[in-house]
Amino acid sequence: MKHTKVKDLLSSTKTLNEVNAKGWVRTFRNNQFIALNDGSTINNIQCVVDFENTPEETLKRITTGAAVSVYGELVESKGAGQKYEIQVSRLEILGDSDAEKFPMQPKKHSLEFLRENAHLRVRTNAFGAIMRVRSVLAHAVHNYFQEKGFVYVNTPIITGSDAEGAGEMFKVTALPFDGTPRTEEGKVNYKEDFFGKETNLTVSGQLEAETYAMALGQVYTFGPTFRAENSNTSRHLAEFWMIEPEVAFNDLNDNMDLAEDFIQYVIKYTMDKCGDDLKFLEGRLVEEEKSKPQAERSEMTLLEKLNFVLENNFKRVSYTEAIDILRDCTPNKKKKFNYIINEWGADLQSEHERYLVEKHFKCPVILFDYPANIKAFYMRLNEDGKTVRAMDILFPGIGEIVGGSQREERYDVLVEKMKVLGIDEEELWWYLDTRRFGSAVHSGFGLGFERLVLFVTGMTNIRDVIPFPRTPQNAEF
Ligand code: ATP
Ligand code: MN
Repeated sequence: MKHTKVKDLLSSTKTLNEVNAKGWVRTFRNNQFIALNDGSTINNIQCVVDFENTPEETLKRITTGAAVSVYGELVESKGAGQKYEIQVSRLEILGDSDAEKFPMQPKKHSLEFLRENAHLRVRTNAFGAIMRVRSVLAHAVHNYFQEKGFVYVNTPIITGSDAEGAGEMFKVTALPFDGTPRTEEGKVNYKEDFFGKETNLTVSGQLEAETYAMALGQVYTFGPTFRAENSNTSRHLAEFWMIEPEVAFNDLNDNMDLAEDFIQYVIKYTMDKCGDDLKFLEGRLVEEEKSKPQAERSEMTLLEKLNFVLENNFKRVSYTEAIDILRDCTPNKKKKFNYIINEWGADLQSEHERYLVEKHFKCPVILFDYPANIKAFYMRLNEDGKTVRAMDILFPGIGEIVGGSQREERYDVLVEKMKVLGIDEEELWWYLDTRRFGSAVHSGFGLGFERLVLFVTGMTNIRDVIPFPRTPQNAEF
């Protein structure tokens, strides 16, 4: 007999004579009631054990964390809170759990404690919900692009170009640390390395994706990305997942439209599929907010925030307008910011981004047309000669969630820019080829998948929305 998922049992439309459920014991009350969870839903199924006819030995082994298989009848529940329960006729212990040592006791644990037990935290309601939401969001990403005819491209994880400039890179090498081969000048001789050149883990698939967009039209990547960021923030991981669409013939406005439509689609999709999980996470957030001072509490619940994003256009504001707002705002004048905004040209810190989104506009914001010298070399120069067609999308509670741009499609302008910045033309010969053979206007953006999961789940630390986070000094599991 094949076992049935708890989710299917709970949504049954009728009682059933013989069912089998397998899962892990969350709690066992009064030597009689098992709350069984198998990960298919946040909801447990209640299994009523016939304790008079079950050997004492077996009853003792029904402990929190144990894996069990129960057989019995699916009947209407007499208790409150569930429609159906299983009247158990036979119970098998599949895997014992030492209840005293099992770290996931049925009580509230701190997120720090749960991070140290990342292999078991997924057995809690919150992490089960987060990981199911994450999975559905990933599906939504593919659905959106596939429905629109985008081609999914897998750009390399080991990259031979170190000119991407998006962040600090992790080196990939097969050279020995002792007796590393050296050149005559005493530098590491990468010619003797595995690839015969210096290689790194990718910080972005964009440059490669651009070459594909210039043949397939609309492409997207969705894969692991690595940055040796030595900043221990709640928004940065050393290993994260990035989604990077790249579209031929799209200008910056098309790019903004795409990003906005995409984000709204994936949120809507997930709200439709993950109702129970989001409801639970909303409740979790309400509890968490209670421990904050009134002034810091959110005015909206999680679902209200998500609906707000669906129902409101993102506010589009130029960098120049944003600087004017920031220069004149109270926290700037009262020197409450760590970085005071004085002049046009300043790079925006997350405190500024969050002020704009959370205090000033009170909605998602797209900032565009940034100063050229604080943005990457490949962004298209505007007619003013000092700004580029960049766009960042800023979200409440998160700050930057998307970074993108219209790309510089003019060969001469691009080469000139690379010269000024000291970027090796020979290294990027293949990238420059796209501007030599049928160049065209094109645009794209990068969205950090975990930052999206943060927003949708209402979690506040990025370490809690990826199964096994990698951060400075931490690569356990
Ligand atoms: P930030 O200023 O927040 O470090 P960035 O400017 O370095 O971001 P981009 O290089 O534009 O970001 O990358 C595109 C997107 O990837 C960002 O908008 C963000 O959502 C995500 N991202 C960037 N770095 C990280 C990281 N270390 N961990 C998780 N997500 C990241
Ligand atoms: Mn960064």
